[in-house]
Amino acid sequence: MSGFKATEYKVRCISCNFEIDDSAYPLECPNCTEPGFLRADYAKKQLNPGDESLGLYRFADWLPVKHMLKGSGAPITYKSEGLAQKLGLNNLWITFNGWWPEKGAVMKTGTFKECEAFSVLGRMGDDFTDVLVVASAGNTARAFARVCSENNIPLLLVVPRDNIGTLWFDSPINDNVKLICPDSGSDYFDAIVLSQLASNVEGYSPEGGAKNIARRDGMATTMLSAATTMKEIPEFYFQAVGSGTGAIAAWEANLRLIEDGRFGNRKSKLMVSQNIPFLPIYDSWQKRSPELVDLKPEDARSWAEAIDAKVLSNRKPPYSLKGGLYDALVDTDGEVLKVDNTEATRAAKLFHELEGIDISPAAAVSVASLIHDVEDKKIAAHQSVMLNITGGGMERFKAEHKLYYLEPSMIFPKESHPSEVEKKLKGLF
Ligand SMILES: [Zn+2]
Repeated sequence: MSGFKATEYKVRCISCNFEIDDSAYPLECPNCTEPGFLRADYAKKQLNPGDESLGLYRFADWLPVKHMLKGSGAPITYKSEGLAQKLGLNNLWITFNGWWPEKGAVMKTGTFKECEAFSVLGRMGDDFTDVLVVASAGNTARAFARVCSENNIPLLLVVPRDNIGTLWFDSPINDNVKLICPDSGSDYFDAIVLSQLASNVEGYSPEGGAKNIARRDGMATTMLSAATTMKEIPEFYFQAVGSGTGAIAAWEANLRLIEDGRFGNRKSKLMVSQNIPFLPIYDSWQKRSPELVDLKPEDARSWAEAIDAKVLSNRKPPYSLKGGLYDALVDTDGEVLKVDNTEATRAAKLFHELEGIDISPAAAVSVASLIHDVEDKKIAAHQSVMLNITGGGMERFKAEHKLYYLEPSMIFPKESHPSEVEKKLKGLF
Protein backbone atom coordinates (compact mmCIF):
# COMPACT_ATOMS: atom_id res chain seq x y z
CA MET A 1 0.00 0.00 0.00
CA SER A 2 1.30 3.42 -0.85
CA GLY A 3 2.38 5.88 1.76
CA PHE A 4 3.27 3.28 4.37
CA LYS A 5 6.50 3.97 6.18
CA ALA A 6 8.35 1.11 7.86
CA THR A 7 7.70 0.99 11.59
CA GLU A 8 10.62 2.30 13.64
CA TYR A 9 11.91 -0.05 16.30
CA LYS A 10 15.01 -1.56 17.81
CA VAL A 11 15.49 -5.21 18.73
CA ARG A 12 16.78 -5.88 22.22
CA CYS A 13 17.66 -8.97 24.20
CA ILE A 14 15.45 -9.04 27.29
CA SER A 15 18.23 -10.66 29.36
CA CYS A 16 21.14 -8.30 28.71
CA ASN A 17 19.32 -5.41 26.99
CA PHE A 18 21.87 -5.56 24.14
CA GLU A 19 20.62 -3.93 20.94
CA ILE A 20 20.75 -6.42 18.09
CA ASP A 21 21.04 -5.69 14.39
CA ASP A 22 17.67 -6.59 12.89
CA SER A 23 18.80 -6.84 9.27
CA ALA A 24 19.36 -10.62 9.45
CA TYR A 25 16.06 -11.31 11.28
CA PRO A 26 17.76 -12.53 14.48
CA LEU A 27 16.04 -15.08 16.68
CA GLU A 28 18.60 -15.17 19.51
CA CYS A 29 21.00 -12.92 21.36
CA PRO A 30 24.64 -13.47 20.27
CA ASN A 31 25.90 -12.58 23.78
CA CYS A 32 23.71 -14.66 26.03
CA THR A 33 24.16 -18.37 26.63
CA GLU A 34 20.90 -18.89 28.55
CA PRO A 35 17.93 -19.14 26.17
CA GLY A 36 15.73 -16.05 26.16
CA PHE A 37 13.55 -13.93 23.93
CA LEU A 38 14.39 -10.88 21.92
CA ARG A 39 11.80 -8.13 21.99
CA ALA A 40 10.96 -5.18 19.74
CA ASP A 41 11.33 -1.76 21.31
CA TYR A 42 9.05 0.54 19.31
CA ALA A 43 9.84 4.21 18.75
CA LYS A 44 6.21 5.19 19.32
CA LYS A 45 5.38 4.61 22.96
CA GLN A 46 1.72 5.46 22.41
CA LEU A 47 -0.42 3.31 20.16
CA ASN A 48 -2.64 5.02 17.61
CA PRO A 49 -4.61 2.41 15.66
CA GLY A 50 -5.27 3.23 12.02
CA ASP A 51 -8.44 2.76 10.03
CA GLU A 52 -10.10 -0.64 10.03
CA SER A 53 -9.55 -0.85 6.27
CA LEU A 54 -5.84 -1.40 6.99
CA GLY A 55 -6.66 -4.83 8.45
CA LEU A 56 -3.99 -6.09 10.85
CA TYR A 57 -1.74 -3.17 9.91
CA ARG A 58 -4.01 -0.74 11.77
CA PHE A 59 -1.76 -1.78 14.68
CA ALA A 60 1.45 -1.14 12.71
CA ASP A 61 2.77 1.26 15.39
CA TRP A 62 3.58 -1.89 17.36
CA LEU A 63 4.32 -4.35 14.57
CA PRO A 64 7.90 -4.78 13.27
CA VAL A 65 6.87 -4.40 9.63
CA LYS A 66 8.38 -2.78 6.57
CA HIS A 67 5.37 -3.09 4.30
CA MET A 68 1.73 -4.11 4.23
CA LEU A 69 0.58 -7.23 2.46
CA LYS A 70 -2.86 -7.49 0.93
CA GLY A 71 -5.78 -9.38 2.38
CA SER A 72 -5.29 -9.05 6.13
CA GLY A 73 -7.88 -8.80 8.89
CA ALA A 74 -7.48 -7.63 12.48
CA PRO A 75 -8.91 -9.17 15.63
CA ILE A 76 -12.18 -7.49 16.65
CA THR A 77 -13.46 -6.97 20.19
CA TYR A 78 -17.07 -6.57 21.31
CA LYS A 79 -18.96 -6.63 24.60
CA SER A 80 -20.74 -9.92 25.13
CA GLU A 81 -24.44 -9.98 25.91
CA GLY A 82 -25.59 -13.58 25.54
CA LEU A 83 -22.75 -15.46 27.19
CA ALA A 84 -22.19 -12.63 29.67
CA GLN A 85 -25.79 -12.82 30.87
CA LYS A 86 -25.67 -16.61 31.12
CA LEU A 87 -22.52 -16.43 33.25
CA GLY A 88 -23.65 -13.43 35.28
CA LEU A 89 -20.75 -11.26 34.12
CA ASN A 90 -21.30 -7.55 33.46
CA ASN A 91 -17.97 -6.86 31.85
CA LEU A 92 -17.18 -9.74 29.51
CA TRP A 93 -15.45 -8.79 26.26
CA ILE A 94 -14.89 -11.16 23.41
CA THR A 95 -11.91 -10.75 21.12
CA PHE A 96 -12.81 -12.67 18.02
CA ASN A 97 -10.38 -13.96 15.41
CA GLY A 98 -11.80 -15.65 12.37
CA TRP A 99 -14.62 -15.34 9.88
CA TRP A 100 -17.60 -13.25 10.95
CA PRO A 101 -17.98 -10.52 8.34
CA GLU A 102 -21.02 -8.89 10.01
CA LYS A 103 -18.77 -8.13 12.99
CA GLY A 104 -15.87 -7.01 10.79
CA ALA A 105 -13.90 -10.24 11.30
CA VAL A 106 -12.49 -11.29 7.92
CA MET A 107 -9.75 -13.85 8.59
CA LYS A 108 -10.41 -16.33 5.82
CA THR A 109 -8.38 -19.11 7.41
CA GLY A 110 -10.39 -18.74 10.60
CA THR A 111 -7.78 -18.22 13.33
CA PHE A 112 -5.47 -15.65 14.90
CA LYS A 113 -2.56 -17.40 13.20
CA GLU A 114 -3.24 -14.98 10.36
CA CYS A 115 -2.05 -12.20 12.67
CA GLU A 116 1.29 -13.99 12.91
CA ALA A 117 1.56 -14.57 9.18
CA PHE A 118 0.83 -10.99 8.12
CA SER A 119 3.24 -9.64 10.74
CA VAL A 120 6.10 -12.09 10.04
CA LEU A 121 5.80 -11.69 6.26
CA GLY A 122 5.30 -7.92 6.45
CA ARG A 123 8.67 -7.72 8.20
CA MET A 124 10.52 -9.51 5.40
CA GLY A 125 12.21 -7.14 2.97
CA ASP A 126 13.21 -7.81 -0.65
CA ASP A 127 16.64 -8.81 0.68
CA PHE A 128 15.13 -12.02 2.06
CA THR A 129 15.44 -14.52 -0.78
CA ASP A 130 15.41 -17.87 1.06
CA VAL A 131 12.43 -20.18 1.20
CA LEU A 132 10.77 -19.65 4.58
CA VAL A 133 10.20 -22.89 6.52
CA VAL A 134 7.19 -23.10 8.85
CA ALA A 135 6.27 -26.11 11.00
CA SER A 136 2.67 -26.30 12.13
CA ALA A 137 -0.02 -28.54 13.59
CA GLY A 138 -2.37 -27.03 10.98
CA ASN A 139 -3.73 -23.55 11.68
CA THR A 140 -0.44 -21.72 11.31
CA ALA A 141 0.25 -23.58 8.07
CA ARG A 142 -3.15 -22.62 6.68
CA ALA A 143 -2.56 -18.97 7.52
CA PHE A 144 0.97 -18.80 6.10
CA ALA A 145 -0.06 -20.74 2.99
CA ARG A 146 -2.81 -18.30 2.12
CA VAL A 147 -0.76 -15.17 2.76
CA CYS A 148 2.29 -16.49 0.88
CA SER A 149 0.19 -17.76 -2.03
CA GLU A 150 -1.62 -14.44 -2.46
CA ASN A 151 1.56 -12.41 -2.10
CA ASN A 152 3.90 -14.70 -4.09
CA ILE A 153 6.33 -15.49 -1.25
CA PRO A 154 8.17 -18.88 -1.39
CA LEU A 155 7.14 -21.08 1.53
CA LEU A 156 7.84 -24.64 2.69
CA LEU A 157 5.28 -25.98 5.17
CA VAL A 158 5.91 -28.96 7.43
CA VAL A 159 2.71 -30.49 8.84
CA PRO A 160 2.06 -33.97 10.34
CA ARG A 161 0.44 -36.11 7.64
CA ASP A 162 -2.52 -36.90 9.90
CA ASN A 163 -3.33 -33.16 10.12
CA ILE A 164 -3.40 -32.19 6.45
CA GLY A 165 -7.20 -32.16 6.42
CA THR A 166 -6.82 -28.78 8.14
CA LEU A 167 -5.25 -27.29 4.99
CA TRP A 168 -8.43 -26.05 3.28
CA PHE A 169 -8.71 -22.84 1.28
CA ASP A 170 -11.31 -20.95 -0.72
CA SER A 171 -9.02 -20.77 -3.74
CA PRO A 172 -6.21 -23.00 -5.05
CA ILE A 173 -2.81 -22.41 -3.46
CA ASN A 174 -0.10 -21.29 -5.90
CA ASP A 175 2.96 -23.48 -6.38
CA ASN A 176 5.30 -21.07 -4.58
CA VAL A 177 3.86 -22.80 -1.49
CA LYS A 178 4.86 -26.44 -0.93
CA LEU A 179 4.00 -28.95 1.76
CA ILE A 180 6.04 -31.82 3.19
CA CYS A 181 4.89 -34.18 5.96
CA PRO A 182 6.31 -36.60 8.49
CA ASP A 183 4.30 -39.80 7.96
CA SER A 184 1.10 -40.95 9.71
CA GLY A 185 1.46 -41.47 13.46
CA SER A 186 3.77 -38.49 13.85
CA ASP A 187 2.82 -35.34 15.75
CA TYR A 188 3.57 -31.62 15.73
CA PHE A 189 6.92 -32.16 17.43
CA ASP A 190 7.98 -34.57 14.67
CA ALA A 191 7.06 -31.83 12.18
CA ILE A 192 9.22 -29.36 14.10
CA VAL A 193 12.19 -31.75 13.95
CA LEU A 194 11.73 -32.24 10.20
CA SER A 195 11.43 -28.47 9.72
CA GLN A 196 14.74 -27.99 11.56
CA LEU A 197 16.42 -30.39 9.14
CA ALA A 198 14.83 -28.56 6.21
CA SER A 199 15.97 -25.18 7.56
CA ASN A 200 19.58 -26.40 7.53
CA VAL A 201 19.44 -26.98 3.78
CA GLU A 202 20.99 -24.16 1.74
CA GLY A 203 18.36 -21.73 0.50
CA TYR A 204 15.90 -22.44 3.32
CA SER A 205 15.47 -20.41 6.54
CA PRO A 206 13.46 -21.10 9.68
CA GLU A 207 10.61 -18.79 10.54
CA GLY A 208 11.54 -19.24 14.20
CA GLY A 209 8.17 -19.75 15.91
CA ALA A 210 7.82 -18.06 19.29
CA LYS A 211 11.33 -16.63 19.04
CA ASN A 212 10.32 -14.51 16.07
CA ILE A 213 9.44 -11.04 17.42
CA ALA A 214 7.08 -10.46 14.51
CA ARG A 215 5.13 -13.59 15.30
CA ARG A 216 4.55 -12.60 18.92
CA ASP A 217 3.74 -8.99 18.12
CA GLY A 218 1.29 -10.14 15.45
CA MET A 219 -0.55 -12.20 18.07
CA ALA A 220 -0.29 -9.32 20.52
CA THR A 221 -2.82 -7.43 18.39
CA THR A 222 -5.55 -9.42 20.17
CA MET A 223 -4.69 -7.59 23.40
CA LEU A 224 -4.33 -4.30 21.51
CA SER A 225 -7.78 -4.78 20.02
CA ALA A 226 -9.26 -5.53 23.44
CA ALA A 227 -7.60 -2.70 25.34
CA THR A 228 -8.34 -0.04 22.71
CA THR A 229 -11.99 -1.12 22.57
CA MET A 230 -12.42 -1.52 26.34
CA LYS A 231 -10.35 1.64 27.03
CA GLU A 232 -8.50 -0.30 29.71
CA ILE A 233 -6.33 -3.34 30.24
CA PRO A 234 -8.67 -6.23 31.18
CA GLU A 235 -8.41 -7.80 34.64
CA PHE A 236 -8.51 -11.34 33.26
CA TYR A 237 -7.24 -12.78 29.98
CA PHE A 238 -8.58 -16.20 28.91
CA GLN A 239 -6.95 -18.28 26.19
CA ALA A 240 -6.26 -21.95 25.48
CA VAL A 241 -2.58 -22.70 24.95
CA GLY A 242 -0.42 -25.19 23.11
CA SER A 243 2.85 -23.29 22.96
CA GLY A 244 1.57 -20.37 25.02
CA THR A 245 2.98 -17.91 22.49
CA GLY A 246 -0.32 -16.04 22.28
CA ALA A 247 -0.42 -15.59 26.04
CA ILE A 248 3.22 -14.45 26.14
CA ALA A 249 2.37 -11.98 23.36
CA ALA A 250 -0.66 -10.69 25.29
CA TRP A 251 1.56 -10.12 28.33
CA GLU A 252 4.15 -8.26 26.23
CA ALA A 253 1.37 -6.10 24.75
CA ASN A 254 0.13 -5.48 28.29
CA LEU A 255 3.59 -4.16 29.30
CA ARG A 256 3.60 -1.80 26.30
CA LEU A 257 0.08 -0.62 27.13
CA ILE A 258 1.20 0.25 30.67
CA GLU A 259 4.04 2.29 29.18
CA ASP A 260 1.53 3.99 26.87
CA GLY A 261 -0.10 5.36 30.00
CA ARG A 262 -3.71 5.64 28.78
CA PHE A 263 -4.95 2.14 29.62
CA GLY A 264 -4.13 1.91 33.32
CA ASN A 265 -1.27 0.05 34.91
CA ARG A 266 -2.73 -3.31 35.79
CA LYS A 267 -1.42 -6.60 34.59
CA SER A 268 -4.05 -8.84 33.11
CA LYS A 269 -4.16 -12.15 34.95
CA LEU A 270 -3.30 -14.80 32.36
CA MET A 271 -5.85 -17.62 32.60
CA VAL A 272 -4.52 -20.19 30.16
CA SER A 273 -6.00 -23.62 29.59
CA GLN A 274 -5.06 -26.99 28.15
CA ASN A 275 -7.06 -29.93 26.84
CA ILE A 276 -7.02 -33.10 29.02
CA PRO A 277 -4.95 -35.35 28.75
CA PHE A 278 -2.33 -33.20 26.97
CA LEU A 279 -1.14 -31.14 29.96
CA PRO A 280 2.60 -30.38 30.00
CA ILE A 281 2.09 -26.69 30.83
CA TYR A 282 -0.59 -27.46 33.42
CA ASP A 283 1.57 -30.12 35.12
CA SER A 284 4.65 -27.91 35.15
CA TRP A 285 2.76 -24.96 36.59
CA GLN A 286 1.21 -27.13 39.34
CA LYS A 287 4.74 -27.54 40.64
CA ARG A 288 5.36 -23.79 40.21
CA SER A 289 8.48 -24.91 38.46
CA PRO A 290 10.20 -23.19 35.53
CA GLU A 291 11.24 -26.67 34.42
CA LEU A 292 8.93 -28.23 31.86
CA VAL A 293 7.84 -31.75 32.82
CA ASP A 294 9.38 -34.52 30.78
CA LEU A 295 7.06 -36.05 28.19
CA LYS A 296 7.70 -39.44 26.69
CA PRO A 297 7.31 -39.13 22.91
CA GLU A 298 4.93 -42.08 22.74
CA ASP A 299 2.71 -40.66 25.52
CA ALA A 300 2.70 -37.28 23.83
CA ARG A 301 1.70 -38.74 20.47
CA SER A 302 -1.16 -40.74 21.95
CA TRP A 303 -2.38 -37.77 24.06
CA ALA A 304 -2.25 -35.59 20.95
CA GLU A 305 -4.55 -38.11 19.28
CA ALA A 306 -6.92 -38.07 22.26
CA ILE A 307 -7.60 -34.33 22.39
CA ASP A 308 -10.13 -32.54 20.19
CA ALA A 309 -8.10 -29.33 20.16
CA LYS A 310 -5.20 -30.78 18.15
CA VAL A 311 -3.46 -27.42 17.85
CA LEU A 312 -2.82 -27.46 21.61
CA SER A 313 -0.49 -30.46 21.39
CA ASN A 314 2.90 -28.79 21.66
CA ARG A 315 5.48 -30.96 23.41
CA LYS A 316 8.15 -28.26 23.72
CA PRO A 317 6.40 -24.98 24.47
CA PRO A 318 8.56 -21.88 25.18
CA TYR A 319 7.86 -22.21 28.87
CA SER A 320 11.20 -22.16 30.69
CA LEU A 321 13.22 -19.64 28.73
CA LYS A 322 13.67 -16.06 29.88
CA GLY A 323 10.57 -14.06 28.94
CA GLY A 324 8.64 -17.27 28.24
CA LEU A 325 5.35 -18.55 29.56
CA TYR A 326 6.57 -19.33 33.10
CA ASP A 327 7.79 -15.75 33.53
CA ALA A 328 4.54 -14.40 32.07
CA LEU A 329 2.46 -16.47 34.51
CA VAL A 330 4.57 -15.40 37.49
CA ASP A 331 4.49 -11.72 36.51
CA THR A 332 0.71 -11.65 36.03
CA ASP A 333 -0.17 -14.00 38.91
CA GLY A 334 -1.66 -16.22 36.23
CA GLU A 335 -3.23 -19.66 36.36
CA VAL A 336 -3.25 -22.76 34.20
CA LEU A 337 -6.57 -24.57 33.87
CA LYS A 338 -7.58 -27.88 32.32
CA VAL A 339 -10.67 -28.89 30.38
CA ASP A 340 -11.77 -32.22 28.90
CA ASN A 341 -13.24 -32.83 25.44
CA THR A 342 -16.82 -33.13 26.71
CA GLU A 343 -16.71 -29.81 28.57
CA ALA A 344 -15.16 -28.11 25.55
CA THR A 345 -17.80 -29.49 23.17
CA ARG A 346 -20.55 -28.30 25.50
CA ALA A 347 -18.92 -24.85 25.75
CA ALA A 348 -18.70 -24.54 21.95
CA LYS A 349 -22.39 -25.35 21.64
CA LEU A 350 -23.31 -22.83 24.30
CA PHE A 351 -21.18 -20.16 22.64
CA HIS A 352 -22.84 -20.81 19.29
CA GLU A 353 -26.31 -20.53 20.81
CA LEU A 354 -25.59 -17.38 22.82
CA GLU A 355 -23.17 -15.47 20.60
CA GLY A 356 -24.17 -16.79 17.19
CA ILE A 357 -21.02 -18.24 15.68
CA ASP A 358 -19.10 -21.54 15.68
CA ILE A 359 -15.73 -21.60 17.42
CA SER A 360 -12.66 -23.82 17.07
CA PRO A 361 -12.00 -26.68 19.52
CA ALA A 362 -9.12 -24.68 21.05
CA ALA A 363 -11.31 -21.63 21.59
CA ALA A 364 -13.92 -23.92 23.11
CA VAL A 365 -11.34 -25.04 25.68
CA SER A 366 -10.90 -21.42 26.77
CA VAL A 367 -14.66 -20.86 26.98
CA ALA A 368 -15.03 -24.01 29.10
CA SER A 369 -12.26 -22.80 31.43
CA LEU A 370 -14.07 -19.48 31.86
CA ILE A 371 -17.29 -21.33 32.73
CA HIS A 372 -15.33 -23.36 35.33
CA ASP A 373 -13.92 -20.27 36.96
CA VAL A 374 -17.29 -18.55 37.10
CA GLU A 375 -18.79 -21.65 38.70
CA ASP A 376 -15.91 -21.67 41.18
CA LYS A 377 -16.66 -18.00 41.94
CA LYS A 378 -13.15 -16.90 41.01
CA ILE A 379 -14.51 -13.96 39.02
CA ALA A 380 -16.85 -11.30 40.39
CA ALA A 381 -19.69 -9.98 38.22
CA HIS A 382 -18.15 -6.51 37.76
CA GLN A 383 -14.63 -7.65 36.88
CA SER A 384 -13.43 -7.12 33.33
CA VAL A 385 -12.70 -10.25 31.36
CA MET A 386 -11.15 -10.62 27.90
CA LEU A 387 -12.01 -13.92 26.29
CA ASN A 388 -9.66 -14.52 23.37
CA ILE A 389 -11.55 -16.57 20.79
CA THR A 390 -8.49 -17.60 18.83
CA GLY A 391 -10.46 -19.21 16.03
CA GLY A 392 -14.05 -19.09 14.87
CA GLY A 393 -16.45 -19.02 11.97
CA MET A 394 -14.54 -21.83 10.27
CA GLU A 395 -17.53 -24.15 9.93
CA ARG A 396 -19.52 -21.30 8.50
CA PHE A 397 -16.74 -20.30 6.12
CA LYS A 398 -16.32 -23.87 4.93
CA ALA A 399 -20.06 -24.23 4.38
CA GLU A 400 -20.22 -21.00 2.37
CA HIS A 401 -17.23 -21.63 0.09
CA LYS A 402 -15.98 -24.20 -2.36
CA LEU A 403 -12.86 -25.65 -0.76
CA TYR A 404 -9.47 -26.58 -2.15
CA TYR A 405 -6.93 -28.67 -0.26
CA LEU A 406 -3.15 -28.43 -0.30
CA GLU A 407 -1.55 -31.78 -1.14
CA PRO A 408 1.93 -32.78 0.08
CA SER A 409 4.85 -32.71 -2.35
CA MET A 410 6.64 -35.37 -0.29
CA ILE A 411 6.07 -37.65 2.69
CA PHE A 412 9.02 -38.33 4.99
CA PRO A 413 9.43 -41.14 7.53
CA LYS A 414 8.64 -40.28 11.17
CA GLU A 415 12.35 -39.76 11.74
CA SER A 416 14.48 -38.64 8.79
CA HIS A 417 18.21 -38.50 8.20
CA PRO A 418 19.57 -34.98 7.46
CA SER A 419 21.27 -36.04 4.22
CA GLU A 420 18.03 -37.58 2.95
CA VAL A 421 16.13 -34.35 3.65
CA GLU A 422 18.82 -32.29 1.95
CA LYS A 423 18.81 -34.50 -1.14
CA LYS A 424 15.05 -34.32 -1.49
CA LEU A 425 14.70 -30.59 -0.89
CA LYS A 426 17.38 -29.49 -3.33
CA GLY A 427 15.60 -28.27 -6.39
CA LEU A 428 12.10 -28.49 -4.89
CA PHE A 429 11.65 -24.76 -5.56
ZN1 LIG B 1 21.46 -11.05 25.60
